[in-house]
Amino acid sequence: MGFFSGTYTRAFEIKKAERYNAEAQYEKAVSELKTANPRFTELEMEQQNVAARIAIAAISGDKKALETLRAKSEEIAKEKQKLLGGTTFPQIEYTCKNCNDTGYINGKICPCVVEIAKKMAYKELSEEMPLDTCRFDNFDLKYYKDKAEEGVSPKKRMTQVLKICREFSLKFKENGQNLLLLGKTGLGKTHLSLAIANEAVASGSSVIYGSAQNLINKAAGEQFSYSGSTEVIDSLLGCDLLIIDDLGTEMSTSFSQSCIYNIINTRILKKLPTVISTNLTLSEIAEKYTPRVSSRIMGSYTLLQFLGADIRQQKALANMK
Ligand SMILES: [Zn+2]
Repeated sequence: MGFFSGTYTRAFEIKKAERYNAEAQYEKAVSELKTANPRFTELEMEQQNVAARIAIAAISGDKKALETLRAKSEEIAKEKQKLLGGTTFPQIEYTCKNCNDTGYINGKICPCVVEIAKKMAYKELSEEMPLDTCRFDNFDLKYYKDKAEEGVSPKKRMTQVLKICREFSLKFKENGQNLLLLGKTGLGKTHLSLAIANEAVASGSSVIYGSAQNLINKAAGEQFSYSGSTEVIDSLLGCDLLIIDDLGTEMSTSFSQSCIYNIINTRILKKLPTVISTNLTLSEIAEKYTPRVSSRIMGSYTLLQFLGADIRQQKALANMK
């Protein structure tokens, strides 16, 4: 999963904790300094007093008094500096110097918050899936044979599929394209879905990845908890990229049917891209889902038919030899 809207809330909580920590450290350092040098506090009070008198002298135009007071102020500053013994007065050390750990710069979210959210999303995603092991650069075409299958060479087809997925991962935000990865198990659908997720997370997009069953369970859990929370469904409908793995393996209920339709339809209307992978054929999709679900998929998704022989089996065989 990852990058639910709650991810940003949690990222801001981390910033808040960092800010409190920086300020607490600062206050501690100041109080230690003042305990060690009681004279420091006296000097600060004197300084405030002198500053007030300078203001009055300036208003009344008393140049002579002003001169004396300024000299006094300098004297105090020098004595304070001497007490610091070559060090400087403590400063608040914020983790992010750009936003002073507020998380905002001129009303906009600071990049440091995005960075934290990104890391959290990546962590959440990778806890569920081997995100770092499934990348475009380690998608191995050697497992796909040249010999034609269904009139097409699997190697040629999969070279094309890889290219389309890679381009999609770079441009999905611009064109709102949707992908349907079709094919039997073990042909690399999950690998390429995760490679897309990897790229999207790295570019700072909000990505949700999950099996159809898992995502539906989460949505149902929220719906039937009657808590009034809509975080899960809002995130599924509104994240930059949604990747639904293994469509068709979920238990079919009236809730699952309407949930899938709602997700697919809303995201098409919002022009938010979705990637679906499935072991079902197009006719099986038409059978399993209501006509409005299958017609939305057929009409708005780029179909990528995976070809070849089960890679897990090939690897297992190679290991036996
Ligand atoms: Zn910042």
